[in-house]
Amino acid sequence: GVAAARVRALAEAERAHYATQNPASQALAQRAAVHLMFGVPLHWMNDWATPFPLHVAAARGARLTDVDGQERIDFCLGDTGAMFGHSPPAVTAALQAQAARGLTTMLPGEDASAVAELLAERFGLPRWQFAMTASDANRFVLRWLRAATGRPVLLVFNGCYHGTVDDVFVDLVDGRPRQRASLLGQVHDLTATTRVVEFNDLDALAAALAPGDVACVLAEPVMTNIGMVLPEPGFWPRAIELIHRHGAKLVMDETHTISSGPGGYAREHGLQPDAVVLGKPLGGGMPCAAYGFSAELAAAAEAAKRAAPAGHSGIGTTLSANLLAMAAMRAALRELMTPPVYAGLHARCARLADGLRAVIARHALPWCVSQVGARCEFQFCAMPPRNGSEAAAAMDEALEQAIHLALLNRGVMITPFHNMMLVCPDTSDADIDRLLAAFDEVLGLLAG
Ligand code: PMP
Repeated sequence: GVAAARVRALAEAERAHYATQNPASQALAQRAAVHLMFGVPLHWMNDWATPFPLHVAAARGARLTDVDGQERIDFCLGDTGAMFGHSPPAVTAALQAQAARGLTTMLPGEDASAVAELLAERFGLPRWQFAMTASDANRFVLRWLRAATGRPVLLVFNGCYHGTVDDVFVDLVDGRPRQRASLLGQVHDLTATTRVVEFNDLDALAAALAPGDVACVLAEPVMTNIGMVLPEPGFWPRAIELIHRHGAKLVMDETHTISSGPGGYAREHGLQPDAVVLGKPLGGGMPCAAYGFSAELAAAAEAAKRAAPAGHSGIGTTLSANLLAMAAMRAALRELMTPPVYAGLHARCARLADGLRAVIARHALPWCVSQVGARCEFQFCAMPPRNGSEAAAAMDEALEQAIHLALLNRGVMITPFHNMMLVCPDTSDADIDRLLAAFDEVLGLLAG
């Protein structure tokens, strides 16, 4: 719905504007270029639409102040890590109290069982373990599942992302699995043990499960990393029935869909996976992740460990479940991941999603908006995509980047990857209006 020349012109003007408005960020970027590879502490930090990284002075609630003293309303929220706002007071207080009493000991404290109890109650799964990141949690879960089932194969949905877990970097290209070309330094053929089908395709799922060698299906309940792909009505109940009929397990990665409610999308929709993975906002912004197993799966995993020779299991890292992380999770679970907090998030996000739809309609663009609790996304297609291939076909990086940078120059930030927005408990109606006004202005420039 938008001419490429207009996208180029907007991007060019916005890049020039950004460069003049952010001299302190530019100076820090120049300094960082000397000793930081790619000029940033993590190379993805260059994936923003900005010509050089925006450097942060402080972040609090829904706002971020950059080193040039400009305040931005943050709808990226650390790509979900800060879904409960930056430095939520409950977590900050818990961290301050714990920091004076030890940071890491490789031994549990009182918070350990309290956190596991809260998780069991919220997610309906009785047995838990911890990791530092959702990537690690997924890696460990995969290992447990293969050990517990004695089956080698992982099944994923096309276009998925579950963190830097090599096994999932397999796409469906012309109906055939192909290792993602962007994956660096992997010397093994992952297609030998990873099978991939389209989301919402029950026949393909059944066919992929039929050989009886699938340990688990690892899936987000709603795909959120290739734009948003919602499950069709009835998809998950039927998929779960198929997965179990073929002796496989279902692992739901709720790292992003925790935006749905205090027990994730599965709990909100009455689905019962065998395992759940959580990360990002679980510690209110601290590096924390957790995974929960059903009693049956946990028993099989524990039996596999007991039956294995003594030595390294390949599961765990030294700092996982450290005292500080456990204190952060306890505070976040108790104070932030609660029904009243979520009710506010969902109402605000619905307001945002409706507002985006109205702006898009005003400019007569063939774009759609999907919402999953506290997160929503606009996509460059008239109807919500039904699978990863359709979602990928609707992506347009040049257009995304032009919009993102134009919004940022107008004081609002959205996630650099595709068009995702999150609200947090501190996001106000006025903040949402500000985003909608900026979006309206930018679409006006693009659509003419
Ligand atoms: N699972 C999902 C669904 C994700 O979206 C992500 C990150 N975007 C991860 C896992 C990995 O999280 P992290 O990068 O914090 O390890």
